[in-house]
Amino acid sequence: DVRVRFCPSPTGNPHVGLVRTALFNWAFARHHGGTLVFRIEDTDAARDSEESYGQLLDAMRWLGFDWDEGPEVGGPHAPYRQSQRMDVYADVARRLHEAGHAYHCYCSTEELDARREAARAAGRPSGYDGHCRELSEDQVAVYRLEGRSPILRFRMPDTTLAFDDLVRGPVAFDPKDVPDYGIVRANGAPLYTLVNPVDDALMGITHVLRGEDLLSSTPRQIALYAALADIGVGGGTTPRFGHLPYVMGEGNKKLSKRDPQASLNLYRERGFLPEGLLNYLALLGWSLSEDRDRFSMAEMVEAFDIAKVNANPARFDLKKCEAINAEHLRALDPEDFVRRLVPYLQAAGLLPAEPTAHQLDLLAAVAPLTQERMVVLSEIVPMAGFLFVDPADFAVDPDDAAKALGADARPVLEASVQALEALADFTPDAIQAALREALVDGLGIKPKFAFTPLRVAVTGRRVSPPLFESMELLGRAETLRRLGAALE
Ligand code: GLU
Repeated sequence: DVRVRFCPSPTGNPHVGLVRTALFNWAFARHHGGTLVFRIEDTDAARDSEESYGQLLDAMRWLGFDWDEGPEVGGPHAPYRQSQRMDVYADVARRLHEAGHAYHCYCSTEELDARREAARAAGRPSGYDGHCRELSEDQVAVYRLEGRSPILRFRMPDTTLAFDDLVRGPVAFDPKDVPDYGIVRANGAPLYTLVNPVDDALMGITHVLRGEDLLSSTPRQIALYAALADIGVGGGTTPRFGHLPYVMGEGNKKLSKRDPQASLNLYRERGFLPEGLLNYLALLGWSLSEDRDRFSMAEMVEAFDIAKVNANPARFDLKKCEAINAEHLRALDPEDFVRRLVPYLQAAGLLPAEPTAHQLDLLAAVAPLTQERMVVLSEIVPMAGFLFVDPADFAVDPDDAAKALGADARPVLEASVQALEALADFTPDAIQAALREALVDGLGIKPKFAFTPLRVAVTGRRVSPPLFESMELLGRAETLRRLGAALE
């Protein structure tokens, strides 16, 4: 029975690296008909926040992930917030200590630093040197008298730690590279190094899929699992590990969670579709087939194979991400597309919370004219805002006005006003015929030059939905009013 977990710490804003990890765990669980556990690793009171926790849940919902155990859905291992499981960790820590798998370490930070420096200078390994492993009772008494409070340190075994990584194949760590490590602070606060494997053991996690940055903590965790099995915590088995490749950003540097490009909110605000973004993030390490970049989440679940994940670093390419999103956007059926545009127009103040039937009709009419031209949903605002803006607030983009509405635009605008006033039917075909006759035949202007001033005057920008359809949707009166305004 496959049981995987997604266990972020609620610090800062959700970022794309986190989403990629969630996606691979979700796809793995769903592919195998397994269980996805969503656990919140919030034992670091100084860094974790409720706001960030709320954002995580919101992000998971927006992305369309479902989980079988965790916040809001509960489950047999509740609670799933580590901040609510402190008594569990205190108990396990005590038992590890009693069984000799962990010991009190009284070394001060200054002493540790000094010895590390000395080891470095002498070319010896600079990790913890085992100083407090076998303290005598007298020595402990002295430290206590000095007022020192100990941390709890895990005793690493003196053997090579090897495992078969699901992505990278066999990996082995020399014990001298994996020194004893702290699991409980002097103030009693348990650390990630303890709580993460303890919960994986108690929650019966079978596969750990996570970023490569955590590869170096895996030998420690494997050793801790053995100790947990020894004291009877959890089912006694060690999960399989798979480390997902690094994601590289600009300049071939690791994409950092502080990188603006990494912020999930940015993609939501710009109007990426969850399925478009997830499709792109899936490609950071995995692919459906060589000749197909666009796929649905259902297709990913069907085909997902952790053994096919590439261990080489993946490059985050915003252009490619946009291109994939644009493909998903074009594939939306018209009603769905319209429905998804609404919040972006609302956020821009162009639609009210409860749009009128007329506004929705207008949107349904203009949407098909824009769908092919858009990469992200927020582009509907500059693209079709001219239809929804209060006429009193309509303004032409100053840059585009400077380029397209100079003195030589006057005759074009004047002739257009005349032609459109006289028109019997205000339909795109009739508008086009009348304007061609007036401008191209009448004034002898090339279509390319003839229509740009009109587009800018009527839609406010040089990039817009098709001009004649735009005029029809706007209506004759408002079209003429805007042409007139451009002449003032
Ligand atoms: N809370 C840890 C993190 O966000 C989880 C790491 C893991 O998957 O083991 O980095």
